[in-house]
Amino acid sequence: MGAGPAGLYAADILLSQVPGARIDVIEALPSPFGLIRYGVAPDHPRIRSIVDSLHQILDRGAIRFLGNVTVGSDVTAAELKQRYDVILLATGALQDAAWDVEGGDLPGSFGAADFVAWYDSHPDYPQIWPLEAQSVAVIGNGNVALDVVRVLARRPEELALTDIPEHVRLAFEASAVRDIHVFGRRGPAQAKFSPLELRELGQVPGVQILLEDRDFELDDADHAAIGANGRLRQVVKTMEQWRSGRREGGERRIHLHFHWRPERVEGDGSVTGLTVRRTAPDGRGGVADTDELRTFAVGAVYRAVGYFGSPVEGFPFDADAGVVPNRAGRVLGPGRDVAPGLYATGWIKRGPVGLIGSTKSDALETVAGIVEDLPALAAAPDRAPESLEELLSARGVPVVTWDGWLAIDAAEVARGAAQGRQRAKLATRQEMTDVALGRSPVSL
Ligand SMILES: Cc1cc2nc3c(=O)[nH]c(=O)nc-3n(C[C@H](O)[C@H](O)[C@H](O)COP(=O)(O)OP(=O)(O)OC[C@H]3O[C@@H](n4cnc5c(N)ncnc54)[C@H](O)[C@@H]3O)c2cc1C
Repeated sequence: MGAGPAGLYAADILLSQVPGARIDVIEALPSPFGLIRYGVAPDHPRIRSIVDSLHQILDRGAIRFLGNVTVGSDVTAAELKQRYDVILLATGALQDAAWDVEGGDLPGSFGAADFVAWYDSHPDYPQIWPLEAQSVAVIGNGNVALDVVRVLARRPEELALTDIPEHVRLAFEASAVRDIHVFGRRGPAQAKFSPLELRELGQVPGVQILLEDRDFELDDADHAAIGANGRLRQVVKTMEQWRSGRREGGERRIHLHFHWRPERVEGDGSVTGLTVRRTAPDGRGGVADTDELRTFAVGAVYRAVGYFGSPVEGFPFDADAGVVPNRAGRVLGPGRDVAPGLYATGWIKRGPVGLIGSTKSDALETVAGIVEDLPALAAAPDRAPESLEELLSARGVPVVTWDGWLAIDAAEVARGAAQGRQRAKLATRQEMTDVALGRSPVSL
C-alpha cells in the first residue's frame, strides 16, 4: 500500500521477479507518486523523468492502481489480509517530527512538512498560508530547509511558471518575505545540504546570500571532516565562494547562520522573534552550548527538523522511531517475531532520509525477502483480491482507477496549457475525484 516511489519500484521489481503475480497498489490519495508530487519542490522539474518512469510502471496495465482508498479506514488490515498473500507497507512519512522548543507551538511557528504540503497543494491540507512576515527564520541544515528557503525567496513570477495551483500562486504574489534567516546548530562542516541543492540557492534571481565570518572559523576536526568527505568539500567551497564574492543588493536576503541552536520562540499570541544560543566546536566534530544568546526579530519560524511516519491501523508501528519495525523489510510483530506475509519498504521502513533513488535499492532488498518467503506463504485457495472493489463500492468509496488518474493528469495538463505552463495541479480531493469519475469536466 502506498503509490510513492517505494511502493511503485517494489511492485515493478516484484512483477519482474514473479511474472504473472497479481499486484494491486492501494493509495490513499487520488494520485500516484507520493512525496514526488506532494514533497518535491515545484521548481524542481528535473524530477519529471522519474515521474515518467514511475508512470510507465502503472501504465503497462499489469499492476492495478486503486487510488483514493485509505488503508485503515476505507478498508481494514484484516480485510486486506483475507484477500492478499503478501501485504507491503510503503506508506512513507508526511508529518513533521516533534520539536521540543519553548514557544514552538505559537501561531506563526510552522513545520516544514505542513508548508511543503500547502505549496505543493496536498488535497488534505488547508488552502491558506500566512506569508505576511517580512523576516522569517528557517531551522535546519538539510535539503528540506533549502527547499523552504528557496521557495520563500523566489520571485512570484518564477513560481507562477511551475505547477502550483491558483491559490498558492496568489499567496506568493502577496508574500511580504524579504529576509530569511537560516539556522544550523552545528558548523558549516557539519551541514547536511547536498551540493547541487545548495548551489541552486545561489542561482535564485534577485537574492543576496549573507554569511558571517565568525561562523567559518573551522577547527582541526572540521578540516578533517571536510578532507574526508567530497560532498562536504563541495558544500563548504560553495559557501566560501559566497563569502568572498558577496553580491550587493537584491530584493530578498538569505542569511546563513551556523553554530546557533534555537533556544526559544518569542511572542505573545504569535511569533515575534527567535532566541538562539551560540554553540562552539567541541573538538570531536560535535558542538557544545556557550552562554551567548541572541534574539532575531522574525514574524515566522519554519522548522525543517525532519519528517515522521504515521501508523496504519491494524499494522505494527514503532511510535518512537516513526517506522514499521522490520528486519531487512520483513515486518516484525509483537515480540519482534516476523509477521508472515507482511513487508515494508521506503521511508516507513528505514525512516525519512534519502532521495528517491534510495527507495529503489530499498525495494530490491524487501522484494528479495518476499520472493524468498513466497513458497512458504502458500496461497490460500479463497483469496479474491477482485472482491476489494465490490467492498469499497458497497461502502461508497469513490475509487480512482488508473484511467481515473489519467483523466486527472490530462485535466491538469489542459489547465496548465490554458495558462501557458506545463501543468496546473487540481487542488482539492473533490475536484480530483469529480474529474476521475467523469462527474464534471475541469474548468480551465
Ligand atoms: C520536502 C521534500 C523534498 C524532497 N525533494 C526531493 C528531491 O528533490 N529529490 C529526491 O530525489 N528526493 C526528494 N525527496 C525525498 C523523496 O520524496 C523520498 O525519498 C520518497 O518520496 C520516499 O518514498 P516513499 O514511497 O517511501 O514515501 P512517499 O513518497 O511518502 O509515498 C508514500 C505513499 O503512501 C501513501 N499512504 C500513506 N498512508 C496510506 C494509507 N493508510 N493507505 C494508503 N496509502 C497510504 C501516501 O499517500 C503516499 O502516496 C524529498 C522529500 C521531501 C519531504
